[in-house]
This record gives sequence, structure tokens and C-alpha cells, in this order.
Amino acid sequence: QLSTSKSIWNETNVRDCFPGRKPDDHKGTHGKGLVIGGCTEMPGALSMTLKAALRAGAGLITGATSEHVINRIASTNVEATYAVLSTTDGFINNDSKVNVQDYDAIALGMGMGRKAFTSELVRDVVSEANCPIIIDGDGLHHIQPYLTSLKRRKSPTIMTPHPREMAMLLGANVNEILVEPFRYASEFARKFDVYLVLKGMYSIITSPEGKQSVNMTGNPGLAKGGSGDVLTGIILAMIMQRQDMFDAICNACYVHGKSADLLIKHQHSHHDLLASDVIDGIANVYRTIS
Ligand code: AMP
Ligand code: MG
Repeated sequence: QLSTSKSIWNETNVRDCFPGRKPDDHKGTHGKGLVIGGCTEMPGALSMTLKAALRAGAGLITGATSEHVINRIASTNVEATYAVLSTTDGFINNDSKVNVQDYDAIALGMGMGRKAFTSELVRDVVSEANCPIIIDGDGLHHIQPYLTSLKRRKSPTIMTPHPREMAMLLGANVNEILVEPFRYASEFARKFDVYLVLKGMYSIITSPEGKQSVNMTGNPGLAKGGSGDVLTGIILAMIMQRQDMFDAICNACYVHGKSADLLIKHQHSHHDLLASDVIDGIANVYRTIS
């Protein structure tokens, strides 16, 4: 049951605040984003976030990861640029400094693994960067012991857990969260001063003030590895394109699910849909709303 403080984010909401393009726009107008993540065993996660961000309209995107991952993904992500990070056993460590001040927004965590030494990098980026940061996937594990540090950030923090990651963040049981997702989401967002996307069949978007919206687009075709990495890329692009932060995150969730819905209607099935298809399908959504 939705009270008046919660609403469904629908196509009209998207149309009302969707970022346009002006004839004199240049790539700098659409944001310079950084994506930090990847490891030898999960190069695809970073690749999908980079590509999704570019397809969703980001002006410039840099992937910061190991040289090994760059060598594997660069030929299929030719529009992105790269920053080489130092590694231990194929996982990124904190030895090479990331120039976080050069970017308009950062996405952090996808496919980076859970090695203890990677936590130092996550902590430093979160405390040093003066721009919006999206923390997803393994990044959520690294930041869990330092959640209170998020309150000191001057720029918005966005966290995108699925229910199991939410349970990990809260040290709670996943079933408890699924019974009262709105309450858990709202308490968490207020307590740590973050925007929270609690993902699922219906994703709940919560602002640090406790405002909540529900996204109803999407289908079981998204229940497959990589879907979340694509969503993170779309959020990264949206928050860099001159919108209210809450609106931008809601729009990203809408576009992600709508892409999957249109693909299921016209080309694919719930069974065969891949996260990469969802990236390609962004075009179908944009053509109908922009
Ligand atoms: P992750 O678990 O991080 O890969 O994220 C999965 C993404 O796919 C989230 O954006 C979910 O909202 C979405 N998703 C997964 N399963 C479904 C489903 N059955 N219906 C709608 N969306 C889904
Ligand atoms: Mg994920």
C-alpha cells in the first residue's frame, strides 16, 4: 500500500524532467564520469557499466581498473578511455592514486571483488571525491564497515543494493527486509544521508529526506548477471545530465526496466534476454521519450 509520500514513477514523470539536448551542446555538457571496478575474474561488469553510461548519454567515460581488464575490454568499448590501477593478484589495490577531482560523477564497485586491500581504495575515493558517487556491488561490501563516514560527504552518495546486499549492509535478515522494504529503505537513507535504490521486481528509490518512489518497469528477463551493472551505468549518465538527483535516479530505473520491457515485446524473451541487450535497447526507450 502506497501512502501519499510514496508514488509510482511513471512515463509522465520521466517526460516532465527528461534531460534534453541543445544544438550547441558539446561532450563536456553531458558529464565526465569515472567507473572504478573490475578484476581478472569479472571484466564484464565494468565493461557493461561503461557502455551503458555512454549509451545513456554520458559525454565522456573513463574506466579505472587493472591493465589486464583494460586489455580485455578496450576493443569492445572503444568510446571509453582508461586509467590503469595497480593490482595484487588481479584485484585493484590502493597503490595508484585515482584523480577523483577530474570527474563530475563516479560509479564504484562493480566486479572489483572483495579483497581487504581494495577496501582502502573504496574508502579513500569516497572520502576524497567531491562529486556524486554511486556505490554498487562489491563496493557495498567494502563500505559497509564505514557507513557513518558517508554522512561527512558534501556531495550526494547513491547506493544500489539488491535485497541480499541490503541485508548485508544492515546486518539483518533478507526476509525481514522484504516484508517491510519501504521502512528499511527509508530508515537507512535518512540515517546515512544517502539516496538508496533497493532493487527488485519493483525497485524502491529513497532520498536522504525519506521521499520514496517505486519503479514498475522491468521484467524477469532482467534476472540475470550484469543487469545491475547496466543500471549503475544508466544512473551515472543520468545524474550528470542536469536534473534533480532524485528525478535522475528514478529516470534511470525507469529507462533500464523499460528497455527490457520493449525488448521482450518486440525481439526477445524472458529467457534469452542479456544485460548487453538492455544496453542496446536504451535506444528504443529514448526514441519514444525524448
Ligand atoms: P543485480 O542483482 O545487481 O544484478 O540487479 C538486478 C537488476 O535487475 C535490478 O535493477 C533489478 O531491479 C532488476 N530485476 C531483476 N529481476 C527482476 C524482475 N523479476 N523484474 C523486474 N526487474 C528485475
Ligand atoms: Mg549487482
